[in-house]
Amino acid sequence: MSLQQITVLGATGSIGLSTLDVVARHPDRYQVFALTGYSRLDELQALCLQHRPAFAVVADEASAKRLQGALVAAGSKTEVLFGEAALCEVAGHGEVDTVVAAIVGAAGLRPTLAAVEAGKKVLLANKEALVMSGALFMQAVHDSGAVLLPLDSEHNAIFQCLPGDYSRGLSQVGVRRILLTASGGPFLQTPLEQLATVTPEQACAHPNWSMGQKISVDSASMMNKGLELIEACWLFDAQPAQIQVVIHPQSVIHSMVDYVDGSVLAQLGNPDMRTPISHALAWPERIDSGVSPLDFFALARLDFEAPDEQRFPCLRLAREAAEQGGTAPTLLNAANEVAVSAFLQRRISFAQIPSIIDRVLSSEPATAATCLEDVFAADSRARTLAAQCVNQRGEA
Ligand code: NAD
Ligand code: MG
Repeated sequence: MSLQQITVLGATGSIGLSTLDVVARHPDRYQVFALTGYSRLDELQALCLQHRPAFAVVADEASAKRLQGALVAAGSKTEVLFGEAALCEVAGHGEVDTVVAAIVGAAGLRPTLAAVEAGKKVLLANKEALVMSGALFMQAVHDSGAVLLPLDSEHNAIFQCLPGDYSRGLSQVGVRRILLTASGGPFLQTPLEQLATVTPEQACAHPNWSMGQKISVDSASMMNKGLELIEACWLFDAQPAQIQVVIHPQSVIHSMVDYVDGSVLAQLGNPDMRTPISHALAWPERIDSGVSPLDFFALARLDFEAPDEQRFPCLRLAREAAEQGGTAPTLLNAANEVAVSAFLQRRISFAQIPSIIDRVLSSEPATAATCLEDVFAADSRARTLAAQCVNQRGEA
């Protein structure tokens, strides 16, 4: 078997590190072609020495010089590049087979699209890229023949529970509903009046998953589930009404598909991202992920409840944006990125996240997005508006 060449965009993050853990277990299958990182240069340096990629990509020239110097001194042959154009280059490079898209937020869109346009096997963690540019992104997948596989645990579970020919249409293959499970995050039981004063540390303390800061806050607000609802609509060509969010605090069932004959198929496993990563890396084969087997006798119980949109207004905002279409999800995503970053910097309260997004969505009309420039224009208008809201509210 020839070695698959892999580029990991966002190698220093939570998904990037889990990917490299799996890759290191299978040196007979995978070789790292490029690793990219943004701020954690020392970590990236250690990863380069361990995985010996041909290329590493960092944010700017000064970081590139620093990392290149350190790598040369350590005897490494890795060439260090910098900037967005370099991210796109290592994503679409002729020698690459598989690209793991694990940059967080809108910054991942262009490099992920570069991989898609080059017809790569693209393992998508960077849900924001798909949410902000859904129609154009899926059109690019269609045009290039790229193989797009979801790493998000829920979407990976849904993919596993759907028949191979689901692209014929969900109703054609007998699907009644997609049941998108959600843990409910750390604030599922917190009294509503206390939500205004929760801290970034509390928001990032997810009960089941260890993740980057932004997605941890999104999980606490349930915007993560809202983004995932939009992500599922694009990946599986579903209408928002075909997707039911189900709170399942144990995160053992990673999502389900409900068929017209009454059968419900679920994918279960320990909450460890190495399972969906291994699934997508090896698909259609199966490989060892290092994840321990699910112990049914240790599982005390599996609970389910309906989501409360009063507690989690972000879920309602995302569903409305999904229904509205056009640039509405782009605006939602951009406003959320600004609000989450302001919350992490303690400039606004947790409860102000949905109100800022709501204000941006009600003051900025959604339009059709016919090209990437439309997407970035909407993204930038929403960021400006959201930043104004942060400044006003932060001072209030
Ligand atoms: P993280 O914060 O741990 O890592 C983010 C990575 O992106 C880092 O390598 C960082 O260097 C890079 N990065 C950040 N800003 C950048 C920029 N402006 N330009 C280039 N690179 C930049 O995040 P994560 O938890 O690994 O999440 C990554 C993506 O995967 C997110 O879109 C998230 O929603 C998705 N995801 C994560 C998990 C999880 O368990 N962590 C699960 C499902 C989906
Ligand atoms: Mg998820």
